[in-house]
Amino acid sequence: MNVMEIFETMEYGPAPEAAAPGLAWIKEHSPFSLFINNQWVKPASGQYIESINPATGKLLAKVAAANSADVDAAVAAARAAFETWSKTPGHVRARYLYAIARHIQKHSRLLAVLESLDNGKPIRETRDIDIPLVARHFYYHAGWAQLMESELPGYQPVGVVGQIIPWNFPLLMLAWKIAPALAMGNTVVLKPARYTSLTALKFAEIVQEIGLPPGVVNIVTGEASQVGEALVSHPDVNKIAFTGSTDVGRSIRRATAGSGKKLSLELGGKSPFIVFDDADLDSVVEGVVDAIWFNQGQVCCAGSRLLVQEDVAERLIGKLRVRMEHLRIGDPLDKAVDIGAIVSPGQLKEIQRLVNQGVEEGAVMWQPSWACPTEGYFFPPTLFTNVSPATTIAQVEIFGPVLVSMTFRTPAEAVELANNTRYGLAASVWSENINLALDVAPKLKAGSVWINCTNLFDASSGFGGYRESGFGREGGKEGLYEYVRPKWETPDSSSKEFHIVIDSASSDGANSSPSMDEDALQDQVFVSSNGHAMALPAIDRTPKMYIGGKQVRPDSGYSRDVYDLQGHMIGQVGEGNRKDIRNAVEAAHKASGWAFGTTHNRAQILYYIAENLSVREDEFAHRIVQQTGRPYEDAIAEVQVSISRLFSYAAWADKFEGVVHRPPLRGAVLAMPEAIGVMGIACPDEYPLLGFISLVAPTIAMGNTVVVISSQQSPLSATDCYQVLETSDLPGGVVNIVTGDHDTLNQVLADHDDVDSMWYFGTAEGSKRVELASAGNMKRTWVNYGHPRDLMDSVQGEGEEFLREATQVKNIWIPYGE
Ligand code: NAD
Ligand code: MN
Repeated sequence: MNVMEIFETMEYGPAPEAAAPGLAWIKEHSPFSLFINNQWVKPASGQYIESINPATGKLLAKVAAANSADVDAAVAAARAAFETWSKTPGHVRARYLYAIARHIQKHSRLLAVLESLDNGKPIRETRDIDIPLVARHFYYHAGWAQLMESELPGYQPVGVVGQIIPWNFPLLMLAWKIAPALAMGNTVVLKPARYTSLTALKFAEIVQEIGLPPGVVNIVTGEASQVGEALVSHPDVNKIAFTGSTDVGRSIRRATAGSGKKLSLELGGKSPFIVFDDADLDSVVEGVVDAIWFNQGQVCCAGSRLLVQEDVAERLIGKLRVRMEHLRIGDPLDKAVDIGAIVSPGQLKEIQRLVNQGVEEGAVMWQPSWACPTEGYFFPPTLFTNVSPATTIAQVEIFGPVLVSMTFRTPAEAVELANNTRYGLAASVWSENINLALDVAPKLKAGSVWINCTNLFDASSGFGGYRESGFGREGGKEGLYEYVRPKWETPDSSSKEFHIVIDSASSDGANSSPSMDEDALQDQVFVSSNGHAMALPAIDRTPKMYIGGKQVRPDSGYSRDVYDLQGHMIGQVGEGNRKDIRNAVEAAHKASGWAFGTTHNRAQILYYIAENLSVREDEFAHRIVQQTGRPYEDAIAEVQVSISRLFSYAAWADKFEGVVHRPPLRGAVLAMPEAIGVMGIACPDEYPLLGFISLVAPTIAMGNTVVVISSQQSPLSATDCYQVLETSDLPGGVVNIVTGDHDTLNQVLADHDDVDSMWYFGTAEGSKRVELASAGNMKRTWVNYGHPRDLMDSVQGEGEEFLREATQVKNIWIPYGE
C-alpha cells in the first residue's frame, strides 16, 4: 500500500472520551434518592426506576420513583423556603446564581459525560453546546437577580413553581427553568424526564456544594403519572412551567384550568427551513445538518420541513445526499461522531412507524448506504422528497433525524407553506437578499426566526412558541415575566374582593338618584305647525351588534331586555349566538391587515376615538347612570378615565417596542413584540364603558383584531361605542361587538380554533371554563379568576401588563459578517 492509497482509504480513528469518571460517580450514588430540602431522601414508595444507556441498551443507574407523598414533602420544603428566599435581596440571590454557574463550569466535563451516557447525544454537543449554555443561563440570570429591584419595580415573585422538563436537553432545560425562577425570587420543585435524571441529580449536588438555602431547589424524579400529575394538581403550587409534547401540554392546561396557577408551556414543533434560490447552498447544507441532525433530530425547534425554491431544489438535494453519506453515527462518547443514539426504544419505534407511514403515503425515502450500529438504539439520517403538504410526515412532529422536503415558487408561496402547520416554534430563512429575508421573517408564525443560521440559542434571547407550540418565553427580559406577578396582586386579594362604591343615596330609594338628569330620558314635547302640543315618544333606538364594520341584527332573531338596578327595562340588545360569534371571528380575520399598518396610524385612530368619545361625554355618562344607578359625577369620572386610557394606548401604540438582544455572537437578535392575531374579549360587568375601553384599546393598539362580548349586565355602553368607532376611521372588522348571554358566547369564543387568545374578566367559574376550552388549539388566555381589577386605578387598569398580554415576542436572529 503506497501513501496515496493510505490517504484515500484513511478513516477517522475512534477518539473516545473516557466514560470512567461518569460511571464512577454513578456507582457511588446509585440507587439515587430524591433531593428535598437539600437532603437526599428515599422515595416513600421504596421503588426505583431504571435509567438506560441508549447507546448500549444497558442499565446505567437506578433512580428514585417518587409518588405524591414525596411531591407533598418537596412542595412543603419549597413553600417554607419561599418565605425567606422571596425576601432575600437581589444581590444575595445573584451571588448564589453566580456560584451555580461557576460550579457548572468546574464540573463541566463530568456533566457532559453524564449527559451523553444518559441521553445518547454526542459528547461534542454536550461538551460544546449543552453545558456551556447551562452555565451561560445561570450567569445571565444572576444579572437579572441583581437588577430585579430596579428593572422590575412593580413585580414580585410568583411563589412555589412546579417545573417539568423533557429528556432531549436534560440539563439545559433544567437551567432554562431554574435560573429565571430563582433570579425572580421563586422556589422550585423540578421533575426531570423519566429517561434522563442523572445530570439533574448532579446539579442537586452542586446546590448543596454552594450552600443554597434548603428548599429553594428540590428535585423529584419518577414517572409522569406519579410525580408530574401530583405537581400539576398540587394546591400549594403557584405556577407550572412545562416543556414537552403538545398533547401533555394540553392536558396540563386542562388540569390547571381555573386553579389560578400561572402557566407557561413550551411544546412541540414542525419548523420550516426555507431556502430561496439565491441562498449560498453550501452554507445551507451545513445549516440543514444542524437543523435536523443535531441531537438526532430530537429538538423541539428542529428544522424538520425543508422548503426549497423549485429551481434549486434538485441541486440542493444532490448536495445534501452527498453530505449525509459522510455523517458519522455511533458511540456518543466518540468525539468524532455526528449522530448519537435515540433516547429510548419506544422513541425509536415511533420514528420507524412514522417513516414507514411516509413511504406508504407515497413519499420517496432516502438514507445513506452505511449501516447503523446494531447494539443500542440508532436511526440513520433520513430524507424524504416528493412529499405533499397535507401528509402525516409533513404535519406531525417526528422528533427524530427525519427531514421532509417540499418545493415552492414564490416568496408568498413559501410563507403559506411555512405557516401550514398547527405549530409555531421556529423557522429559518436562507437568502443572500437581506431585504427578502427581513420581509419574510415577520410573516412567519413562529417564536424564533433564524436568518441564514439555525438552532441558535442564548440566555439573552427569549425562546418559545406561537399557536400550538405553546406560550410564554424562556430567556431574555421577556422570559422574566413568566416568574413574576404584579405587586398589588397579594395572595389574599382573593378574599379582599373589590367593590365599586355605589352612592347610598342613589341605590336605596326606588325613585332613582336626584343627580340623574331626568329630562334627558323623558319623552320630549312636540309642537306641531298648527300650534298644538302633543307628547312625542322617543324614537326607538335599537342597539345592534357590530360585525365587520357593519351594524347587524342577531342571527337568532331574538332580543334580550336590559334592566336598570330598579328593574326597569332600559333597552334591548340582540341575543347573540354561535353564528354571530363565528361571523365576528371571520370578520376579525379578514381585518388582519391591521397588524401590518403603521403604529403611527394605530395611534392616530386611538386618539381619534378618544376625541369622538369626549364630544359625547355627557351622553355616555348618562348611559352609565341609567345602567348602574351610580351618581352622575361617578359616571363622568368613568368616561374621563376611559378617554385618558385611550390616550395612554395611543401613546403606547408606537412606543411598546422590542429590544435588540446581544448574544455572544457576531450579530443581533431583534426581539419584536407582535400582535397575537384574533383575540376574544369578555368584558367585565363592573364598569360598562371603562371595562370595554380598558380591554379593547391595548389589544387593538398592538395590532390585534378583536371580538368583544359586551358586559352582560350593562351592554349599552359598548353598543353605544360602535358609533364612536365608526366615526373614528377604525377599519371594519378590527373591533366586533356581540351582545347576549355571557356563558354561551364565551364558550363559543373560547372553543373557537381561529381565535388566538382570549381575555376573560368575569367569574371564577367562567375563568375556569375559558382555560379549559383554550386547550383545544392552545390559545393563550388571560383571566381574572373572579377577582375584579379596579380599572379606575391606573396601576391595575392599564399599562405594560396589558400590552404584554396583547403581544407575543418573536426573536429574529441576524448574524453578520462574511
Ligand atoms: P412529554 O410531554 O412526554 O414529557 C415531558 C415531561 O412531562 C416529562 O418529564 C414527563 O414525565 C412529563 N409528563 C408526561 N405526562 C405528564 C402529565 N400528564 N402530567 C405531568 N407531567 C407529565 O415529552 P417528551 O417525550 O419528554 O419530550 C419530547 C417533546 O417535548 C417533543 O414534543 C418536543 O417538541 C417537546 N420539547 C419542546 C421544547 C420547547 O422548548 N418548546 C423543548 C424540548 C422538547
Ligand atoms: Mn437514560
